[in-house]
Amino acid sequence: MKKSIYGLTLDQLKEWFLENGQKKYRAEQVWDWLYIKRVTEFSAMNNLSKECIQLLEENFVIQTLKETVKQESADGTIKFLFQMQDGNLIETVLMRFKYGNSVCVTTQVGCNIGCSFCASGLLKKSRDLNAGEIVEQIMKVQEHFDAQQKDERVSHIVVMGIGEPFDNYTNLMGFLNVVNSQKGLAIGARHITVSTSGIVPKIYDYADEGLQVNLAISIHAPTNELRSRIMKINKAYPIEKLMASIDYYLEKTNRRITFEYILLHDVNDHVEEANQLAKLLEDKRHLSYVNLIPYNSVDEHDQYQQSKPEAIMAFYDALKKKGINCGVRHENGADIDAACGQLRSKQIKKEKKKATV
Ligand code: SAH
Ligand code: SF4
Repeated sequence: MKKSIYGLTLDQLKEWFLENGQKKYRAEQVWDWLYIKRVTEFSAMNNLSKECIQLLEENFVIQTLKETVKQESADGTIKFLFQMQDGNLIETVLMRFKYGNSVCVTTQVGCNIGCSFCASGLLKKSRDLNAGEIVEQIMKVQEHFDAQQKDERVSHIVVMGIGEPFDNYTNLMGFLNVVNSQKGLAIGARHITVSTSGIVPKIYDYADEGLQVNLAISIHAPTNELRSRIMKINKAYPIEKLMASIDYYLEKTNRRITFEYILLHDVNDHVEEANQLAKLLEDKRHLSYVNLIPYNSVDEHDQYQQSKPEAIMAFYDALKKKGINCGVRHENGADIDAACGQLRSKQIKKEKKKATV
């Protein structure tokens, strides 16, 4: 299969041109066509020689994703379901905020971490996405804006779709380089957030990259006993090891970390857990922000319910009282299966049903 050209960093493309007997400035011309003019055919790149276009066509593809579903919610959230070249389905979500347009990208087909509340983890990982497939999700959403001729752009990215980004580390780094590059989409590093369930060795690596990209940690529980119950990854990387890696990250980068905390009714939403969480974050509260996430119910996980609004408020108040910065995430696209992996798992179920009738 030909490679996706979106997966190459500018330096990699320059090198490729040199190796193929071309001048390296060709790479910048190609990037201008891809990310500024945003053409989707090599033949449209009319300042390149015929030979150069042919060489590109023989070795690369530009578009590999086919849009199969586009669901728009009343609040402007749009959920896209894409089919990849091998037939696998992935989802990408566009959320509109006052501060800009944020896209949530998928990094793997399924997820092996298997958190007990998550729709993505229901389907074992069948493969990693390559860097080009992650970049192309952004290009597809940008294409949606371009088609409306409204001069809007993707300004923010959250790596919070299906998959564990730190279990696909090299492709994640390639993706971040491409979307952040000044010669390409130029999406500011501080406008990008990567979320992990806590793959400790990769948190150390990430700290060493020296990036300005934000980090979010899915913490979801303040004690090993409770966290291991809802996230089995905690057995491999328990809270003390996780916190040590976070301390290293904070020391290296001095950048604020977001802690994500899904509130599950009567599981982890008591004031006692709020106080335990506050204690856990006490020594780093000047560099912490806790994002309280109302649980989005998943059909297959009927052991969990969304916390009551009173419990959410009490949890929030308890954190605030201890001086922890926090907020409650407002639900985007509540009417369109916005929890990660939900649209995809529904679509797969539908297809299975079709196949059996
Ligand atoms: N694998 C990474 C990134 C993708 S999940 C991680 O776990 O951090 C992104 C976020 O969506 C995580 O905080 C995850 O816990 C949350 N999430 C998963 N299922 C959810 C659900 N049913 N309702 C609300 N949030 C959910
Ligand atoms: Fe994977 Fe994240 Fe879902 Fe856990 S929450 S199963 S790590 S996608």
